[in-house]
Amino acid sequence: MSDLVRLTATEIAGKVTSGEVSAVEVTQAHLDRIGEVDGRVHAFLHVDADGALAAARAVDAKRAAGQPLGPLAGVPLAMKDVVVTEGLPTTAGSKILQGWVPPFDATITRRIKDAGVVILGKTNMDEFAMGSSTENSAYGPSHNPWDLDRIPGGSSGGSSAAVAAFEAPLAIGTDTGGSIRQPAAVTGIVGHKPTYGGVSRYGLIAFSSSLDQAGPFGRTVLDTALLHEVIGGYDPADSTSIPQPVPPVAAAARAGAGSDLAGLRVGVVRDLGGEGYQAGVLAAFDDAVATLRKLGAEIVEVSCPHFQYALPAYYLIAPSECSSNLARFDSVRYGLRVGDDGVNALEDVMSLTREAGFGAEVKRRIMIGSYALSSGYYDAYYGQAQKVRTLISRDFAAAFDQADVLVSPTSPFVAFPIGERIADPMAMYINDLCTLPASLAGTPALSVPCGLSENLPVGLQIMAPALADDRCYRVGAAFEAAVEPLSIPEVAK
Ligand code: GLN
Repeated sequence: MSDLVRLTATEIAGKVTSGEVSAVEVTQAHLDRIGEVDGRVHAFLHVDADGALAAARAVDAKRAAGQPLGPLAGVPLAMKDVVVTEGLPTTAGSKILQGWVPPFDATITRRIKDAGVVILGKTNMDEFAMGSSTENSAYGPSHNPWDLDRIPGGSSGGSSAAVAAFEAPLAIGTDTGGSIRQPAAVTGIVGHKPTYGGVSRYGLIAFSSSLDQAGPFGRTVLDTALLHEVIGGYDPADSTSIPQPVPPVAAAARAGAGSDLAGLRVGVVRDLGGEGYQAGVLAAFDDAVATLRKLGAEIVEVSCPHFQYALPAYYLIAPSECSSNLARFDSVRYGLRVGDDGVNALEDVMSLTREAGFGAEVKRRIMIGSYALSSGYYDAYYGQAQKVRTLISRDFAAAFDQADVLVSPTSPFVAFPIGERIADPMAMYINDLCTLPASLAGTPALSVPCGLSENLPVGLQIMAPALADDRCYRVGAAFEAAVEPLSIPEVAK
């Protein structure tokens, strides 16, 4: 393995800017690493070696011409396959989009390219981002670099696996109910779900529009913050985009590293812990709280009594919105078409296509969502779930009166074995216990590694009020600097 793939994004950008290495050398080193390990990790669905090298050459040419480079110029990145990329296959992990090549870039894709960040390829994911393990991908699961027989989290498991396996220093994920934070936690890396509306959704294939947020992965808090600044900020093409500048997350990450947390009030959420959580996860979390206290933070306990209803509320709202969003996959507009033999009626072609193109979990959710939105049940299910959402936001508001940030484990479990939970939807859904409240409230949350349990990584979740993403990064960076870094194992040969 080349030393170049061990570097952080910040280090790579520094070396590219100073001319110590070229962007082409860095990109080639990562492509070689992908060639070496991705047969076992399966982080990528599509590797774009030619496009990546061309993007790297453009960065090198810009430098040679004396033009200024951005803070991540020449740094390779792995892109979740739910984000559209002009000219590059985009499947959202589904058979129904096999072979579809988008004619345009998502806003975040465009911003990444404009920043000189090099897109290596598209990463594996649970179909349409529904899941917590990547086992719902139509293209087979990804594998956790810590133990190839275990899941790398989901739905952005290809992205987390790529970063943890040193195939890319940065990746993009999307988080609807936890799909950036949980994969970051179980692979021992950093991931952040931005404030809803803080990062454009234009060009993300929609799952649940009132919850979907794209966000960054990195191996350090600062790298993650730098990528956040590249993708974040107002976009007129997204009607829910917040017309405000990106919070100063990179400055917060720099200020946090090595500084103390005196004067900061940290709220431990009583309702996110205890029964149902693995003992090793709770022990690592307790150690993390002790570290925050040692850094000078004042630790308070807060109660958020409605968080217990986050799971049922989410599993009505997300399927409801998905049942509407996925209606566009109708065999006419994109991708797969089955049964178009001149004899079948159009409705039959649609139904045969959806039958063949969607996997079991996607179908389950479309059915639950269609039911919950039907006229006789709308108030009882969807309407009720939206009320619960308001109660959860009020719990957050009350908790943030007592504390500047809230903390919890990111996931109740460490990475579980592939195959262990896939047959039992409820066993899969409870992975989201800790991440769902911030999704429903639209507030930002960061996951940072906080030690090991059974030799597998555990994540600390740091939550802040809407638009205070910088607080997550400041506390995350102070914590990261105060603990032993995890040493991510080499992928077994
Ligand atoms: N695990 C959750 C689900 O299956 C969250 C997915 C996500 O955040 N995209 O819906």
